[in-house]
Amino acid sequence: MSAPHRAGRHFLQIPGPTNVPDRILRAIAQPTIDHRGPGFAELTLALLPAVGRIFRTSEPVIIYPSSGTGAWEAALVNVLAPGDRVLAFETGYFAALWQEMATRLGLQVEFAPGDWRHGVEPEIVHQRLVTDRHRAIKAVMVVHNETSTGVTSRVPEIRAAIDAAGHPALLLVDTISSLASIDYRHDEWGVDVTVAGSQKGLMLPPGLGFNAVSAKALDAAEQGGFPRSYFDWGPIIAANRDGFYPYTPATNLLYGLREAIAMLEEQTLPAVFARHERHAQATRAAVAAWGLDVLCQDEREQSAVLTAVVMPDGHDADAVRDRILERFNMSLGAGLGRLKGRVFRIGHLGDFNDLMLAGTLCGVEMGLALSGVPIARDGVAAALACLETTACGDSASGPRPA
Ligand SMILES: *Cc1c(COP(=O)(O)O)cnc(C)c1O
Repeated sequence: MSAPHRAGRHFLQIPGPTNVPDRILRAIAQPTIDHRGPGFAELTLALLPAVGRIFRTSEPVIIYPSSGTGAWEAALVNVLAPGDRVLAFETGYFAALWQEMATRLGLQVEFAPGDWRHGVEPEIVHQRLVTDRHRAIKAVMVVHNETSTGVTSRVPEIRAAIDAAGHPALLLVDTISSLASIDYRHDEWGVDVTVAGSQKGLMLPPGLGFNAVSAKALDAAEQGGFPRSYFDWGPIIAANRDGFYPYTPATNLLYGLREAIAMLEEQTLPAVFARHERHAQATRAAVAAWGLDVLCQDEREQSAVLTAVVMPDGHDADAVRDRILERFNMSLGAGLGRLKGRVFRIGHLGDFNDLMLAGTLCGVEMGLALSGVPIARDGVAAALACLETTACGDSASGPRPA
């Protein structure tokens, strides 16, 4: 028997999947069409350049019917070969998972240790590459926004460190939780493969994985890579030229993607980024006023996408999350891996506005209090004061005239 109906909307405040706006749900609900017919080609030929505008690239973007994890694997198997050495950084749970995947595939991973409270240190990138005299490192793997910790690494500074070392390694960046929420520029920042997914900043359901690729990455893929088939960029890029895919694509999610990009461009990307930043600031104001700490320890790296809140000793974050779900019908992100029970994560990304954030923080404050966590009851008030003082990045303006 299914659970009884709960009135009102569920608050899905995990840092992905995010709330899917009704406009996108309606777009996805259109009838599926023949993926080898002219209507489909029209869809793809308009969609691919639009997707490029979100990645800020004029190079190809490959879209897979996959989770973000599939797009991780696609990045690795196209540009690297078994036994290749790569440099990765232990920024948190997702960086560790990507590293583990690379190891399982047979890559030799240099995994620079981290404390899960900081991003990738550009100085360490520089040091590691300078000492790699034989240029054995073929790629540097960076998670832009570490969703397990709420820490955003500074990709332009990492690029500069690679250049300063004069090292030819490819730069692979996971933007699964940052794309369309935090400023990101594939071409300008000199990224070779950008990995993304549909279910976070893009406001779609899970099911699409992306690789944006540079000319250098394409060249590496053409010259070598792993034995690969389904994830091979080559046949997909070739079929995309005429608006098709070498297999059945996720047609309905592509309708959703077209709608999501239209929504982002109506708001404008700078306004979307400013909104995320503002909501993050208000959330941090709440955390500070509760007397709790955010996990991120470097102010330059605080994530605009989510905030990981550290529990006081002796209090279990999962017990608080369970109570909030039960009482207030809101899902918060769990502490992952070694952070289990020690943090909870508030997602403030995607299709989100001031009053949704206010409701979210009310639920958190009540849940903490009900769970007996010692907090000052000033968090919501501090966040509201923060929201009042500045206008929302985009919501006040409504749809822009054409
Ligand atoms: C969500 C996420 C992933 C995993 O994506 P899936 O779609 O679950 O495979 C990887 N990296 C980061 C940074 C993420 O936020």
